[in-house]
Amino acid sequence: MKELNLEQKEYLLNSIRQVHDFPKPGIVFRDITTLLNDKEAFNFLIDHLVARYGEMEIDFIAGIESRGFIFGAALAARLRLPFVPIRKPKKLPYITISQKYSLEYGVDEVQIHIDAFREKQNAKVLLIDDLIATGGTAKASVELINQTNATCIEACFLIDLKELGGSNNLKNLTKIYSVLEL
Ligand code: AMP
Repeated sequence: MKELNLEQKEYLLNSIRQVHDFPKPGIVFRDITTLLNDKEAFNFLIDHLVARYGEMEIDFIAGIESRGFIFGAALAARLRLPFVPIRKPKKLPYITISQKYSLEYGVDEVQIHIDAFREKQNAKVLLIDDLIATGGTAKASVELINQTNATCIEACFLIDLKELGGSNNLKNLTKIYSVLEL
């Protein structure tokens, strides 16, 4: 299965801005707006994902709010696949199903429309987000997909912040592909 070489990873990594102490002290925020703003880098990434996923059997691409929408929808359009948004509570207008997950303080929730994967039995879903940190959002999203008539066949991230352990946790639930591991 296609992966990038070191030079290509370095190229993509250099297109992503690091913002220190955002949104709070001690966090290094990986700002993908600079990648999106660089048409060569953005296309390079999407071409790579098209090469990787073009040959896989996938029925739907699901993106996690909100940066997962950008990469997920761009890839879905290129692969001519349907796109499904996974959103925070009270954003989707029709009937939804939900999955709660724990945060450092309190709980959060992700939702999809009840008919997101339509009538398709055992639909194969590729899940996409920009980054996996502790993995709480991604884990709840995989559980949400698997609660329906669908199966998450792989979760794809642009960046995996390995030391936060999210991907290590998530790999018990689904296959994972991270373009960049930091
Ligand atoms: P988590 O549930 O801890 O894996 O957090 C993942 C979500 O938080 C993703 O949707 C990311 O967009 C966002 N996120 C967490 N940490 C960072 C970071 N250092 N830089 C940019 N986004 C982050």
